[in-house]
Order: sequence, then structure tokens, then C-alpha cells
Amino acid sequence: MTFSVLIFTYLYLRSPSLSNLMQISCVCRYPLGMSGGQIEDKDISASSQWSESTAARYGRLDFEDGDGAWCPDMSVEPESTKEFLQIDLRSLHFITLVGTQGRHAGGFGKEFAQMYQIKYSRNGRRWVSWRNRHGRQVIEGNKNAYDTVLKDLEPPIIARFVRFMPITDHSMNVCMRVELYGCEWLDGLVSYSAPIGQLMVHRGQHIYLNDSVYDGEVGYSSGMTEGLGQLTDGVCGLDDFTHSHVYNVWPGYDYVGWTNESFPGNYVEILFEFDRIRNFTTMKVHCNNMFPKKVKTFRQATCFFRSSSDWEPTPVTFSPVMDDVNPSARFVTVALNNRMASSIKCQYFFADAWMMFSEITFQSAKYLLRFSPGDDPTHKVDDSNTRILIGCLVAIIFILVAIIVIILWRQVWQKMLEKASRRMLDDELTASLSIQSETFTYNNNNQSSAGSEQESNSTYERIFPLGPDYQEPSRLIRKLPEFSLSMEEAGTSGVSKPVQAGPQEGVPHYAEADIVNLQGVTGSNTYSVPAITMDLLSGKDLAVEEFPRKQLTFKEKLGEGQFGEVHLCEAEGMQEFMDKDFSFDVSNNQPVLVAVKMLREDANKNARTDFLKEIKIMSRLKDPNIVRLLGVCVCSDPLCMITEYMENGDLNQFLSRHEPEGQIALACNAPTVSYSNLHHMATQIASGMKYLSSLNFVHRDLATRNCLVGKDYTIKIADFGMSRNLYSGDYYRIQGRAVLPIRWMAWESILLGKFTTASDVWAFGVTLWETFTLCKEQPYSQLSDEQVIENTGEFFRDQQRQIYLPQPACCPDPIYKLMLSCWQRNTNERPSFQEIHQTLLGCLV
Ligand code: AMP
Repeated sequence: MTFSVLIFTYLYLRSPSLSNLMQISCVCRYPLGMSGGQIEDKDISASSQWSESTAARYGRLDFEDGDGAWCPDMSVEPESTKEFLQIDLRSLHFITLVGTQGRHAGGFGKEFAQMYQIKYSRNGRRWVSWRNRHGRQVIEGNKNAYDTVLKDLEPPIIARFVRFMPITDHSMNVCMRVELYGCEWLDGLVSYSAPIGQLMVHRGQHIYLNDSVYDGEVGYSSGMTEGLGQLTDGVCGLDDFTHSHVYNVWPGYDYVGWTNESFPGNYVEILFEFDRIRNFTTMKVHCNNMFPKKVKTFRQATCFFRSSSDWEPTPVTFSPVMDDVNPSARFVTVALNNRMASSIKCQYFFADAWMMFSEITFQSAKYLLRFSPGDDPTHKVDDSNTRILIGCLVAIIFILVAIIVIILWRQVWQKMLEKASRRMLDDELTASLSIQSETFTYNNNNQSSAGSEQESNSTYERIFPLGPDYQEPSRLIRKLPEFSLSMEEAGTSGVSKPVQAGPQEGVPHYAEADIVNLQGVTGSNTYSVPAITMDLLSGKDLAVEEFPRKQLTFKEKLGEGQFGEVHLCEAEGMQEFMDKDFSFDVSNNQPVLVAVKMLREDANKNARTDFLKEIKIMSRLKDPNIVRLLGVCVCSDPLCMITEYMENGDLNQFLSRHEPEGQIALACNAPTVSYSNLHHMATQIASGMKYLSSLNFVHRDLATRNCLVGKDYTIKIADFGMSRNLYSGDYYRIQGRAVLPIRWMAWESILLGKFTTASDVWAFGVTLWETFTLCKEQPYSQLSDEQVIENTGEFFRDQQRQIYLPQPACCPDPIYKLMLSCWQRNTNERPSFQEIHQTLLGCLV
């Protein structure tokens, strides 16, 4: 934006000496003030008005004031151009574009102009009907009452007054809102008068060198008078005058040309009238020089000047160097030696049989009256322009430097905050540790102070593996405008308030959650690392016991996470060790296969805390579809949790190895999985989640990668590293480099930091989708992480622009419908796991 304004400012300041009007047509497209209010009400008038509330002043584009638009008194009759909306721009403007709108009035209005014409005037007396380059006057308008329709004016208009005249093909009510786009016409040229352009016949081809867009009077003997046309329309002719930039026009279109046969004096005289007395520095004439076809630039220009009634006796004469080598068209610059005038009359002398011009511009000083006698005004103007330009550049450099400084400062400040908050939390933990180790007690009452309320310190990095399924959302979310502000605020405030339990819908508190350390805030329990360990050892809060480590025999490594490894082990004496409610699929006294998840010995304090917390959570979960914690080894390092062994590994890998039943699978001899197997597995996940949700546990990371597969397609949900009891008020605060499984997360988890059973339902929908695609692709695989976050914003905005995961090939309609219901924007419209489970049971075929 700044850059285009800069260019515009530069051109605007330079405008009296614009060398190529083509540039104006491209650059000069600024709203002239109907929508922005720069055009005052008194400068907007109309032929009539239907009521005071539909007066001309309400005809501003994008305004909804009054009754929403200008409406004429009567319906517009076919062929009639009686009604008009008129705008006085107060000075001459180069108008390149117009915009129209109907009357919408918040949905009540339905009137609009399907077609319209434009009339314009430079002096308010002589009005000209605008025509396009093919002579058509009618412009197609609106198709409804609300959309803006923009139309390029080809050729552009140079005018002070513009009228919009709605026209119809049948009698109808019409209302309009309009805008003009362009820029001020600083050349000051009001009209030129010249002999009519002529017809050239070259080798049988007719080349029409008339001024086809001239808007003045055209008489056979008087020639062209009082108008502007192709010489000021912003289109420079091509080298070959038989061709044109403009589409579908006749040969010679771009040029106005004359033959010396018609001019006994051997020159063509053109009279230029200006808005006021100006100080002219140069004139630039764009000429054709196709000498092989007997066309050349002029050999001499003699210009006379007039400031009052008489022409001054001494002209300026200029003879350009003739170019007989290069036949390309070019601007020939004539120095006008700072002559003062309001009219200039130039005689252009033929150098060959034909002379053809496509543009003529004048460069003059604008702020003439500011200079004292004796000054060289050109230099003054140039100096002042240069000064303004330098001023603008210095200001921009200053702004850029300021922005860089602010960015750097913010980065440093954020790092300091992060460090400080880490240090504070570490200090608190250390303090808590020392107190705990002194007393060997843990506080499990309600008297805990705010400072000692951490249940754990952990980060998403620690909890989530840093795999491709997990992303840092905070950087990405900043790209969503609705959320960037609040994130900025939180980021700079440095305040890390605990997020309240029971968050309000629609309050973006993800931002205030944006800190490095994640905190579980239970509000009632105070734990530090040894306290939890003590807690576990004492068995007060733990439903599993310490298993003798020596009774475990390592068999193989099953997997690896960021903070530890999962081993397949044989466990001796496990049957006796276990509750009676859990039975092993082996005969008595046989060693049992178990999975042992162990924390790396060098894992930091936070990882240990999380690990112990996961143990605590898992020890309470007893369900056929939740991985069962069998025992722990927490008396010494490495910390271990012993869980039942699921021989088919995780569901993601399992499904990736399989193909759906069918010809393809048969042909490539791949292991297959049937629809009913998939359905059975999905139903078990739903059942496990139903159990979890009944305990108000939120998993937060439900995905096929976190479900394990046993014999006969048995599924058990695992990986509770992220799980928190909903009622413990465990809303996470995330800052900096949190990594999240954004493709599985509900919009409110990403944008608001809200994790609830309803967001687990969302993740279940994605897990269901994975299951029925047999994990052959990642969810939203065609979207980048940024686009996934943007899509999340669309879910939030709910303007039907959100992209849903598509229906997998082997997924029946009712199951896809179930998925879609899990991705409802409103959390209370999503089904419960109870309902999901029921639905899946009902879908079984
Ligand atoms: P985790 O770090 O818990 O995600 O485990 C890493 C990998 O180890 C998983 O993706 C599984 O393939 C494997 N794994 C974990 N727990 C078990 C288990 N109880 N039975 C079999 N394989 C497991």
C-alpha cells in the first residue's frame, strides 16, 4: 500500500511533466471521494429525487445512509436519459473508472440500474456524452442491489462535472450509488483544436488517421475545435501505425495524421487552451517515424504563446534531430523556455509526406504564484517537488527503521519474558521441592497458595512427539486477523494468568495461554515432583503398585518417543500381581508379554512430572477399550509404566499396512481389512471415549496413532500424556513453541485454547475419517499448516467457506454424516460419545 501511495505521490507531484499518459491510466485509479466523503454533499446533485431520504447525497457508493441510495422521482422510462445524478469534482480530473451499486438498504432495497450512460463537462456548460472506443454510449450496470460493478472508461474522461444517467429497456424504478476513480488532471489542458485527421491509402489499405474519440466540435472547414481526444487519451501509438494497442479497432486508430498535400504552408497548426496562465517548460509530442512509409516526426515546431488577448510576437522554435535510421515511434520533446501562457499555438512542419501524432503533453509549473519575480520558477517547482519527495523518502526510511527496531525489541522482550517466566516456575518448583523433601508430605487440601498451585510444568513439546502431525499453532494463528490482536496483546503483556475453568464461548483466551510452560491448575491439589512420587509410592492416589523391575525381561523395542522408549518385555508373576478383574490370555505361571514404557534417565524434571501424571491418570482408567496400566516402576530410575501388550501396534501403522477388501487388494496380495472390521474398530474407539468422557476426562490427542490394536481387531486407546480431568480446571497455557496436532484439533482448541469432551468429539471425527481412509493420507493433506489454521478461522467465521474432510471412498453415508456432525461449529451441536457409540452400533450392517 505504502509503495503504491509513494508512486502515486511521486507521479502526482511530478504530474505536470508526466511523460506518458499510459502511466496515468494505470496509476490514476483512486476513488475520488463519493465513498470516502471528500466530495461534499453540496457537490452532488440530481435531476430529481423520490424523497428527501433518497436525495442525491445518498448516491455514494458503499454508503447505506438515508434510504440507501439516490432514487429519481419517477420510474425511468425506456430510452429516456432525463434522470441523472451529477457530481462536481471542483477541478478537472482524469477519470479512468466508474463504479455503481443499487439500493440495498440492509436487504429492503431492490432497485438498481441495469444500464446507464455518462455525460461529462469541463466547464459546466458544454456537455459531452461519453462513448467507448467503438462509439457505444450505454454501459452495463448492476445485476443486483448490493454488488459494486466497476467499469473502465476507455477512453478515459477529462472533466470536472460527471452525470450518471440510468437507462432502462422498460419502465422501472431505479436507484444508484456511484463512485468515480482517477486523479486530478494537472496538465491543465482544456482543449485542443486541430485540422481533422485524414485517410491514408497505402497499397490499397485504408488507414484512418482521424481523431476518433475527440469530444469537441468537428466541422469540415473549421476542423476539430474545443475538445480533447486521442492526443490526450493516454494511449501511445505503436511503431507500426497500422496496428493498435486497442482491441478490435481499425488501422491507424492510435494516431491522428495529416498529409502535406493538404497543407500548402507545409505545417499543421494545433491550438492548445489551458485552464489558466502557466509557465511552460516542455511539450512532448509522441510521433510516428515509420519513414519507409513516408511518415516522419516533424522537422520543426514553432510555438506561439498567449496570456491575454494577443499572441506574443516571438515564438519558440525547435528543430529536432531527424532520425532516418530507427523507424520506431517516440516522444519528441520541445523546450518551451518557461514561457507564460494560457494558450499555445504550435505549427508542426512536415519532414515527409505524412506526420502522425498519438499523444501531446505539456509540462508546466503549477505553483507559479508562490515565486517572487526574478526567481527561476521551474527550478523552484522542481526543488519543492524534490524536497517533498526527499521528505517522503526520509519519512518512509524512518518508519521502516522504527518497525525493525520494534520487531527486534519485541523479540528480545519476549525472550526475556520467556526466560523470566521459566526461571520463576523453576524457582517455584525448586522451592516446592525443598519444602516437600524436608517434610515428606504432600498438601492435598484447599489451603494451597496461588504460587504453589502447579500440578505440573510441562510443554507441548514434551507431551507431543515432534512429528509431522504436530505443529506450532501460535505463529500460524497470528495470520488470522481476528486473533492476531489478542495474541499480540498477550504476547507483550507478559502476564501469565491461569486460565479459568469453564471458559466462556467465544472469548479468545488462547492468547493469554501463550506462554512457554504448560501448567495444570487444579486449584485444590499441590504437587511437586517428589510429592507425586511420594503420592504414587504411598498408593494413596494410585490404583497400581510397584512391580519388581527384576521380573521384567527385555524382548524387543516396540517404539520410541521423544522422552523414552517402549519395550516389549516378559513379565514374571504378573498374574498374581494383578487385580482379579483383569485376565491374561496365557495359561497360569507362563510369563506374560507386556509393553514397558520407560522414561529416559536423562529426561528433565518436567518430563518426569508429565510421565508420573500420565501414570496417575492411567491408573484410574479401567475399560476394555482403554489400554490398561498393569504396574509401575517408580522407586528408581528409569521410571517405567507397564501396560498390556497390543500385538498389532498402533492403529495408524496397522491400517497403513492394509488395503480395503476388493479386487485391488486381491491383485497385489495385500493384507485386507473389511468394512465391518473398520466399523468394529471405530465403535470400540467410541466406546473407550464414552468411558473417558463419563469420567470427565479429556484426551486432547485422540488420533489413530494413539490407538493400539490387539488380537481380532481389538482397539484400546492409549497415550494419555495430554489428558486432563475436565473438572480439574486444567486449561493449558501455551507460549512460544507449543506443538499441537492441528489437523485433529477443533477450531476452538486452536483458536481459543479450549479442550473439552466436545473437542475430543471433533478429534474422534478426524480419527473416524483416518480409519475409513485406512490412514493412506494425512487429514487435509492438500493444505499447508497455514492453510489448516486459515480453515480453522473459516470454521470460526462459519460463512460456509470452511473445507471439510471429504467422504472416504469406502465410507457409507451415515458414517460420513456422523463425521460431519462431529465437526459442527457449535460445540453443543456435536454429538456426545454416548450418541456416537449408539449411532455406530446402529450403522452396523
Ligand atoms: P508412544 O510413545 O506411547 O506413542 O509409543 C510409541 C509406539 O510404541 C507406538 O506407536 C506403538 O507402535 C508402540 N506401543 C506403545 N505402547 C504399546 C503397547 N501397549 N503395545 C504395543 N505397542 C505399543
